[in-house]
Amino acid sequence: VCRRSSGSGLQATLRDVGGYSEDGDRTEREISRLKARDEVTFDAFCHLRDAERTFVFYNVERAIRLSTGEVLHDLRPLVGIAPLPARPAGYLARAARKAFAGTQAEKAALRKKQRRELKAHYRLDPVWDLYKARLHASFGDHCFRCGAARSLNMTPYVPLAWGGALVPGNIHVLCPKCLAAKGDQQPEDFYSAEEISRLEPILAGQVGLMSFQWTWKRWNTSRHEQEVYVRELGVPDEIVTKMFHDPTYLDYVPDSD
Ligand SMILES: [Zn+2]
Repeated sequence: VCRRSSGSGLQATLRDVGGYSEDGDRTEREISRLKARDEVTFDAFCHLRDAERTFVFYNVERAIRLSTGEVLHDLRPLVGIAPLPARPAGYLARAARKAFAGTQAEKAALRKKQRRELKAHYRLDPVWDLYKARLHASFGDHCFRCGAARSLNMTPYVPLAWGGALVPGNIHVLCPKCLAAKGDQQPEDFYSAEEISRLEPILAGQVGLMSFQWTWKRWNTSRHEQEVYVRELGVPDEIVTKMFHDPTYLDYVPDSD
């Protein structure tokens, strides 16, 4: 099925490619030739809720730029609409949580995919390192449960097994021991009311804390400007210098010329 629709400066061609979920309210669609502000055109593949006849922009759950693999968490700024407001903590009401229906292997694959996507949002590993450090710092660089300071893991608060994704607003930091103890339990079954009341404000501030927008216009300039841009993003000077001047450095940015 191909439909063409427009609105809010957005034009897109939609094609159903199946993949209806159990509850029947979600379908996978391919969106191609999506045209946005500034003549930005990209191909995308995403999940849409509800089979609307028109392309409902705010129902796009996730989009990936096929040319670069970049995950676009919020498409609204692309067409000149204000970004989504921060999601309040506890947004995923307990009643709305659904047990994960897939196998353990599928769950592991989904976990891996979510980690990859979260990281990809920050484009460059040194930028991701900054934001990861920021998130850890919001937990005092300790396991939320026991206070251990080593081998910390970022893990969903509402677990994947209950529909919780590894996305800002739902991430907390645990040591391996506490992570294993929590397993697939829902927060209310594992944490005390006191712990939850301490966690909620941290989670509520997380969307803002982790918000990051990569600007291709800044990147697609000269190598010198790229260096300036990365420095402005907050990457420490010594790392920026290695990124642009030390070809043996792991995160060295190759010269595109
Ligand atoms: Zn712990």
